[in-house]
Amino acid sequence: MNLLSSANRKAIIEQLDNQHFDLAVIGGGITGAGIALDAASRGLKVALIEKNDFASGTSSRSTKLIHGGLRYLKQLEIGLVREVGQERAIVHQLAPHLVIAEKMLLPLIEGGTLGKIGTNLALMVYDFLAGVESEDKRKMLSAEETKTLEPLLRDDILKGGGFYAEYRTDDARLTIEIIKKAAEYGAISLNYVKAENFLYDESQKVKGLSCLDMDNGERFNIHCDYVVSAAGPWVDKIRKVDQSLTGKHLFLTKGVHLVVPHERLPLRQSVYFDVPDGRMIFAIPRHKITYIGTTDTPYDGDINHILTNQEDADYLLKAVNNMFPTVQLNNDDVISSWAGLRPLIHEEGKSASELSRKDEIFESPTGLISIAGGKLTGYRKMAERVVDEVAERYEAAGKGQLQACHTNQIDLGGGPFDHGAAVEAYAQQVSQQVQKAGLPESTARYLVYNYGKQSAQILEDLRSYPDDVVVALARAELKFCIEKELTLKPADFFSRRTGRLYFDIQSIRPVLSAVLDDFQNTFGWTQEQYEQEKSYIEQSMYEAANFEYSKMAKPS
Ligand code: FAD
Repeated sequence: MNLLSSANRKAIIEQLDNQHFDLAVIGGGITGAGIALDAASRGLKVALIEKNDFASGTSSRSTKLIHGGLRYLKQLEIGLVREVGQERAIVHQLAPHLVIAEKMLLPLIEGGTLGKIGTNLALMVYDFLAGVESEDKRKMLSAEETKTLEPLLRDDILKGGGFYAEYRTDDARLTIEIIKKAAEYGAISLNYVKAENFLYDESQKVKGLSCLDMDNGERFNIHCDYVVSAAGPWVDKIRKVDQSLTGKHLFLTKGVHLVVPHERLPLRQSVYFDVPDGRMIFAIPRHKITYIGTTDTPYDGDINHILTNQEDADYLLKAVNNMFPTVQLNNDDVISSWAGLRPLIHEEGKSASELSRKDEIFESPTGLISIAGGKLTGYRKMAERVVDEVAERYEAAGKGQLQACHTNQIDLGGGPFDHGAAVEAYAQQVSQQVQKAGLPESTARYLVYNYGKQSAQILEDLRSYPDDVVVALARAELKFCIEKELTLKPADFFSRRTGRLYFDIQSIRPVLSAVLDDFQNTFGWTQEQYEQEKSYIEQSMYEAANFEYSKMAKPS
């Protein structure tokens, strides 16, 4: 049975309900996905449930960089920088179409966070810890060279620049590809299933989950030997259900990104720059848009519904206008945004920005293992640590010997590609096909950098739709995402499978009704469900483009 088709949802739930698993994972963000792949590839029988869509939590709201975290050097987090720095090249190798080399420009300004010597030293250590080689090593630039690379930078305070290697990604697509790869190793993962409670044996050890199907309200159980909670910002809520929320706990901080059309902030180059309050933020050009972020503020609101507010927007717009004075952005330039929560570990007396980004594993007396903190970039190593812990218990119980972690050898879906240049060559090939089909050349890059070689399937299917080619493309993508990527709702499709909500929000309206019709036909929605889903996606578009309803009236 195809375990990745939402059309098989009922049968997938039957399998979750009827089988016995070695490991059940709560949470389908990057951490849970990484754990499912690591565990399944070592030989464990794995179930993973996600209460919303995969990556709908923090894992679709990051800065979307696979980076070593230069700023953590200032906090002397050497171990963290070394680990995530080294992971960058590995994750790039596993999915070159999803993790793309991206040079970062760090302008040196009067009164900036690090002076010239400090920046040079920090970048040198950064390269050394991450094992960066040859032409990828950092370069220090003069003010003129810096300005040539990025002419929009203000020159009155510019002293020079640092130019160094990072990678960018699409966090949600990376998560989905890991979920898909875990399925190849037999893991059964399902979205829209909430872990409501734990099942315990007579010695009060966790032996399963009682689950709620969020799609139809039905309940079922998952029976297993071990449970890992990778619930990100919800980790403490789950520990509370297990009555094991003692000792260390989470501290949530909100991070916001704004999206503007590329022509309003026409950067040639990704830039990591100083904000007058002493923090640093990114501005990253990406096809039709440039995005800017992030903020870092303590959060105690609703963790299921995080919105950008005017204060967040003001902070980021002011920072951009300060560093790129010729653009003068305002609210009306913002076409989309996203806000997410960092599940950090509380430390007495430290501010949001000072808190460590290191991951931590909590073990409850009931046997529940929880993991929180960490970075998108470090997902593979976090997974290795958690599964090592499970493997130890498995082996101690005399269940056999598991393989060692080898996820550094497991290519993610969409490839294989030997390196970034091979992806670009493939995009050239696809470019001819899309132009022949009547689509703009840029569609080739959109497809290849989202789906890799799976683009071929989408282009093949496109021919079977009689519609205008733009609509036909969306319908072919939807077919692929429903059948191969467990897409159940329009927001899954527009936000986490295609990235359109953030990177090309204007592309949604012209295809919306055809996409909704296809959903209705595939899943047999009633007219009431159709209207509900339509209004949900419209609300999501509205919220992305308007900060807490301050820019304009709500749609009726
Ligand atoms: P999540 O993605 O939040 O996943 C947890 C999941 O658990 C959620 O999907 C949730 O729905 C699910 N869940 C909760 N309760 C239940 C339940 N009862 N039953 C079933 N499922 C449940 N890292 C980088 O490496 N690079 C960056 O550029 C970067 N930028 C960032 C920028 C911002 C603003 C933020 C906030 C973070 C950034 N990070 C970055 C960090 C990174 O995004 C996170 O470390 C990572 O996404 C956390 O993933 P996770 O899987 O642990 O949590």
